[in-house]
Amino acid sequence: MVQQGQIDHLLQETGQILPPASLVQQAYLQDHDAAYKDSVENPEAFWEKVAKELDWFKPWDQVFEWTYPTFKWFLGAKCNITYNALDRHLTNGNKNKAAFIFLGEDGSERVFTYGRLAQMVNRFANGLKSLGVKKGDRVVIYMPLSPEGAIAMLACARIGAVHSVVYAGFSVGSLRGRILDAQAKVVITADVGYRRGKEVDLKGICDQTVEDLDLVEHVVVWSRKGPPETPRPRDVDFDQLMADGSIDCPAEEMDSEDPLYILYTSGTTGSPKGVLHVHGGYMVGTYYHFKTFWDVKDDDVFWCTSDIGWVVGHSYIVYAPLVAGATTVFREGAIDYPHPGVFYETIEKYGVNVMFTAPTLLRMLMRYGEEYPKKYNLKSLRFLTCAGEPLNPEALKWSYEFICGSGEWGHIVDNWWQTETGGPCLGTSATMPVKPGRVGRALPGASLDIVDREGVPITEPDKGGLLVITKPFPHFYRTVYGDPERYAQDWNTIPGVYLTGDVALRDAEGYYMVVGRADDVLNVAGHRIGSAEVESALVSHAAVAEAAVIGKPDELRGEIIKAFVTLRMGQEPSDEMVAALKLHVREELGPIAVPAELEFMPVLPKTRSGKIMRRLLKANELGIDPGDITTLEE
Ligand code: AMP
Repeated sequence: MVQQGQIDHLLQETGQILPPASLVQQAYLQDHDAAYKDSVENPEAFWEKVAKELDWFKPWDQVFEWTYPTFKWFLGAKCNITYNALDRHLTNGNKNKAAFIFLGEDGSERVFTYGRLAQMVNRFANGLKSLGVKKGDRVVIYMPLSPEGAIAMLACARIGAVHSVVYAGFSVGSLRGRILDAQAKVVITADVGYRRGKEVDLKGICDQTVEDLDLVEHVVVWSRKGPPETPRPRDVDFDQLMADGSIDCPAEEMDSEDPLYILYTSGTTGSPKGVLHVHGGYMVGTYYHFKTFWDVKDDDVFWCTSDIGWVVGHSYIVYAPLVAGATTVFREGAIDYPHPGVFYETIEKYGVNVMFTAPTLLRMLMRYGEEYPKKYNLKSLRFLTCAGEPLNPEALKWSYEFICGSGEWGHIVDNWWQTETGGPCLGTSATMPVKPGRVGRALPGASLDIVDREGVPITEPDKGGLLVITKPFPHFYRTVYGDPERYAQDWNTIPGVYLTGDVALRDAEGYYMVVGRADDVLNVAGHRIGSAEVESALVSHAAVAEAAVIGKPDELRGEIIKAFVTLRMGQEPSDEMVAALKLHVREELGPIAVPAELEFMPVLPKTRSGKIMRRLLKANELGIDPGDITTLEE
C-alpha cells in the first residue's frame, strides 16, 4: 500500500502508477497483449467469438465485408440489441436484478429491475406503434437524463425505429436542425429537466422549435410536474401512452446492419454530422469493451456520469451495461449540487465499484479540496475511468490519491474515443501501468496509427502526427446520415485510413498521448463543439458581419470559447452587444456553446483566398508564435 505523500515520490521515480494487485488479480482481461494481437491478426475470428456470447435470431453468413470506405459486420444475421439488453435477462437469473438506479438532484431514487424495465419498454414501444411509428422511422428524443429517456431510446430500438437523442442542454437551433435532418415525425420530450435545483423548460424550447415544423406529427411529453393545463394539439402524454400499451412487444427482427441510432456531433463545417450506428456490430463491440475494459463483474455497481445526449451515455449508460446485465447508477443534474460532497456520498451510499467520468469533473472536485473525499468511505471504488479530453497529470494524481486511496482500494485510468467509434480505442486497461499524461495503448480491436499529412506512418517514438484508424471494427459508425460523401471524406483525405481529427504521439512502449484536435473542433468540458457552428450562430445575429471562434486553454474546462466579431455598419461595440450576442448563441445552440469571451475587431485576419485565419487569432491570443502550431492546425 502506498502511503499518503508517497505518491509524488512514486510518480517521479517511475513516471508510472502501477495498478493495485487486487485489481490485477480479478481483471477479466489478464493478457492484454495476447488479446490485442489476436484482434488485429484475426479480427474476424476475434469478433465472431465475442458475438457468439450474445443472442441472435439468425446467425451471420459472413463476418466482415469491406468495400472501402464502407463495410459491414455479421452479414445476413438477424438480431435486435434490445433482445440482448432486456429479454435475455428475463430467463438468465437477472430478472429481479437492478438494471438502473436513477438518482435525482433532490436525493430521490428510483430502481428499475430488468423485469420491470422490459415491461416498461414494451409498453412504450407499443405506444409508439399506436402513433404510427414504424421500422426505419426516425424519432427525436429531447429528454433529460432519466429512465424515461432511456426507455424512449430502447422502445425505438425495440420496434426498429431509429432514435436521435438531442442533449437536453441544447436549444432551439440545434433541436430544429436535428429534427429536420432526420425528418422526424415524432419528438419525445419532458416538461422540464432539473439542474442546480432549477427547472429547464424543455417543453417551451420544444414548442418553439416545432411551431412551424409541420412534419412533426406528435410531441410525446413526459409531464413530471403533473398534467399540463393547456396541452397543444400535437401533444401526447408519455405516461398515458405507457399505461395504454400492452406489456408484450416482441423485438422487431433487424438485420445486423440496420440503423439503431443517429447521434449528431460537431465537425469542421457549420452543420453537425449525424453519426449512424447499427444494431449488430455496435452491440458486440460496446459489450466487449464494457466487459474487458471497464471490467464490470456481475455483483458490481457501475456509475457513468455522462448523459444520454452524448455517445458515452448511449454506449455506457444505456446499451452495453444492459446487454452485459449490469447494475448502472445515473444521476440527473449537477455533480456538485446540492453540495460538493454529493459525488462521494453517492459512491459510498450505492457502493459504486466502477465509474466512468470526465476529467473536467475531477478538476472541479479537486478545486473543492480533499476535505470532501475524506469525509466518505470510498473503498468500494475499484476502478475510476475517464474519457472525453486529456486527463491532465494533476487531476490524475489528485484523484488517485484522494478518490482511489493511492491504490489502497482504487485505481484511475484514461481512455480515448469519439462519437464515430462508438466505444474506446485507446486506454489503460486494468492490468497496465498508468503513465500520467498518456491515455494508454491501443485496445483490442482497434487498428490505429499515427501518420503525417501524406499518410506515411510515423514510427519514431514521441513524434506527433495525425491519429488514424486503419481498419473498421464492428462498433465503428457506418455513415453520416443522409450524407455518405461526408463519411467518405474522412476515409479519403488520406486514402486508406480514417482521420480521427486528433493529433497524437506514441512512445516506444506503445502508449499514446492525444495532444488535441488537428481541425477547428473545440473541446469544452469534454464536449465537442465546432467553431464553425458557433460562428454560424453568431453571424445569424443581425448586428454581426463576421465571426471567428477559437479555443483557449482553461484550467477547469480544458478549453473555453473565445469569439472575435466584426459588426455591421452602424452597429457599435458595447457591453450590451456582448450580452446580446451571448444570449443569441445560447438560444441558437445552448449554454455549452456560449463564448466565455467575446472581442470586437474592425476586421478579421484572412488568407488571400478569404479564409479567416483562426490560427493567427489563436497565436495572438495565447502569445505564441503562429509558426509553432502550423503542424497542429489546418
Ligand atoms: P466526442 O465525439 O464528442 O465524444 O468527442 C471526441 C473527441 O474528444 C476526440 O476526437 C478527442 O478530440 C477528444 N477526446 C476524447 N477522449 C479523449 C481522451 N481520453 N484524451 C484526449 N482527448 C479525448
